[in-house]
Amino acid sequence: MTQDDYFPQGALVAVLTTEPLDRPLDYKSPGGGCRLGDFVQVPLGPRKVLGCVWGQGKGGFDLSKARSISNILDVAPMPPAMMEFLGKVGSYTLTPMPAMLRLATRAPGLLDPPSMRKIYRLGTGEMPRETDARKRVIAALKETPNLAFTLKELAEHVGVGTAVIKGMVPSGAILEQDSPRDLEFPRLDPSRDGKVLSDAQASVATALRAEVAAERYSTTLLKGVTGSGKTEVYLEAVAECLAQGRQALVLLPEIALTSEFLDRVEERFGCKPAEWHSGVTMTERRRVWKMVGSGGAQMVIGARSALFLPYQNLGLIVVDEEHDTSYKQEEGVLYNARDMSVLRASLSGAAVILASATPSLETWANVQAGKYKRLDLESRFGPAVMPEMRALDMRTEKLSATRFISDQLVAAVNERIEKGEQSLLFINRRGYAPVTICRACGFQIACDDCDARMVEHRFLNRLMCHQCGETKEMPTICPSCQVEGRLAPVGPGVERLAEEVAEKFPDAKVAVLSSDLFGSARALKEQIQLIANGDTDIVIGTQLVAKGHNFPNLTLVGVIDADLGLQGSDLRAAERTFQLMRQVAGRAGRAEKRGTALLQTYQPEHPVIRAILAGDEEGFWQAEADERRLAGVPPFGRMAGIILSGPDLGDVTRAADLMARNTQALQRVGAMAFGPAPAPIARVRGKHRVRLLVKADKAVPLQAALSQWAAGLRLPKHVKLQIDIDPQSF
Ligand code: ADP
Ligand code: ZN
Repeated sequence: MTQDDYFPQGALVAVLTTEPLDRPLDYKSPGGGCRLGDFVQVPLGPRKVLGCVWGQGKGGFDLSKARSISNILDVAPMPPAMMEFLGKVGSYTLTPMPAMLRLATRAPGLLDPPSMRKIYRLGTGEMPRETDARKRVIAALKETPNLAFTLKELAEHVGVGTAVIKGMVPSGAILEQDSPRDLEFPRLDPSRDGKVLSDAQASVATALRAEVAAERYSTTLLKGVTGSGKTEVYLEAVAECLAQGRQALVLLPEIALTSEFLDRVEERFGCKPAEWHSGVTMTERRRVWKMVGSGGAQMVIGARSALFLPYQNLGLIVVDEEHDTSYKQEEGVLYNARDMSVLRASLSGAAVILASATPSLETWANVQAGKYKRLDLESRFGPAVMPEMRALDMRTEKLSATRFISDQLVAAVNERIEKGEQSLLFINRRGYAPVTICRACGFQIACDDCDARMVEHRFLNRLMCHQCGETKEMPTICPSCQVEGRLAPVGPGVERLAEEVAEKFPDAKVAVLSSDLFGSARALKEQIQLIANGDTDIVIGTQLVAKGHNFPNLTLVGVIDADLGLQGSDLRAAERTFQLMRQVAGRAGRAEKRGTALLQTYQPEHPVIRAILAGDEEGFWQAEADERRLAGVPPFGRMAGIILSGPDLGDVTRAADLMARNTQALQRVGAMAFGPAPAPIARVRGKHRVRLLVKADKAVPLQAALSQWAAGLRLPKHVKLQIDIDPQSF
């Protein structure tokens, strides 16, 4: 902290408000002054709001007219690199400062009165009377020894009444403690020995350690097939980072993967790291936020928003499964956590590792351009090899419209069952059937509020909209023609596939893995453990299984519909399908048994299907890159989506037309607008959505042109404008 960061009289404060303020406001400093990054409470209109000291008040301003900062909060100030980060992400995504500040202070409850809330942890006292409920409380706490719960949160987590927990306090079986935010995390020990690495792994680990040890910014693609030991190897880079006393962040795309990952960290470093994602309680999140800010948390594993924690001393960010589309935040601040990781690291002199078996085209292109380094783990760890891949031509199979598993696939599964090995049947669709149609009039049941058909979920006995989550009862009469008993499911979902499996393999032990079938992360973990132990003959799964789990006895993968992702006009469809198919196929044959992947397809000569079968990755990327370069789209050109939405389609369309006619601000820089056209999802939650796409050369200052364009327009009252830089689909 220098003299310049101390403001005795007045300061600019970024405030947390719902108004889209684009600049900090002037306030008088409190007695004793304030410092850059201080979290403060300030008056704003009739309210008091959270703020952060963002800089010195501008000269010539009459301070006597400003209101005073009410008080400085008792937490570590926001680190300078974090302030810079928020500013840059804000200008990149065209997000006003208050929304950025909200992203950076999610969950801490900084303005809560000094918390008297107590937390409940595992004690050492003898349990007075062992009831089932009490045993469950102990078991749950043993599983998460370093998480903090309030009474209510713990009761909900375990599924018992609060009285059960209260009743365990007097004996000391449960401890009641104050001040959860100050609870330290146990120290991870980077000097413990990891697994003995193979030569290939060791040389990659050494290179990664060197990137971290250099203490300056760099980004490295860590590419290796599933099971090659990427996790093992990047944990070495984490060890280096921890040994330096710097903080490490590991981003995972899927919460379902965290529990397995936590166990691996514990095995490697002696205890579990801090966790940050939607499954973590508010109390715990407050603690993580504070401990990251004070340096008391050495390592965080989390979802994309963990990027906005106030790291004091960040040395490494790992983005695991970096190609995963869920790294793009699609609501609120529209940012891509993978890309913003690179920015965050560059501001802290930290290293980035992007790990994937199937990198995104963006990352591949950045390697080609020399911006990122690349390290490869060529083969699977140990004797395992990549599976043999074959297409099953569905045009020659005589399947009825209600059956989806071909005879060839049935035979292959039976062969595995006889050998005592496991098979995975993969279908990228939750629920029973994607469409419910009336066989009398052809009507298809759709969501009332979205441009989407309702998906039948037979386990729930309801129809569900996968856009907004709305459910309704399954009707027996057609809502359109009122004829009874003619509604029928069309197409397969994971639940329907399970039905067919039960019919075709009556004696097999079957497990269904779909994100909506598990009430808790624990139930899912138990199921995954059962499968890993070999207690299952057939696993039926959605894309939940495509990611990161190790099933050593699984030797066959059958993809029910390999063509699913290839429909539609999205330019990223080929890339997505290629990645997903390779990921899924990678589930087969992880131990000493060679696996087979069978792809059911109606278009075996489609170039993408052929590339998947040939396993010619570099060829695929090259062809894909050529196509995108020609089209001038990312990663070779810049793109933004302008989404206009509102309850009235007429208003929305008029606003979009108005924008399309007034593109001078874009023309000046040589950017072009296309559309308007219905957005990829044309109606969500009752709001109509129309999209314009803007395309520009790499060198064009697109954000400035977009702001000018949008600022020059007066939109109708109920029409909302949202700008999506680097949209996921185009
Ligand atoms: P990836 O992240 O590339 O999918 P993992 O790091 O998860 O690969 O490794 C796959 C499996 O192989 C894991 O169960 C891991 O523990 C094991 N493994 C990898 N490398 C080694 C090693 N050097 N020694 C022992 N087991 C290893
Ligand atoms: Zn809906």
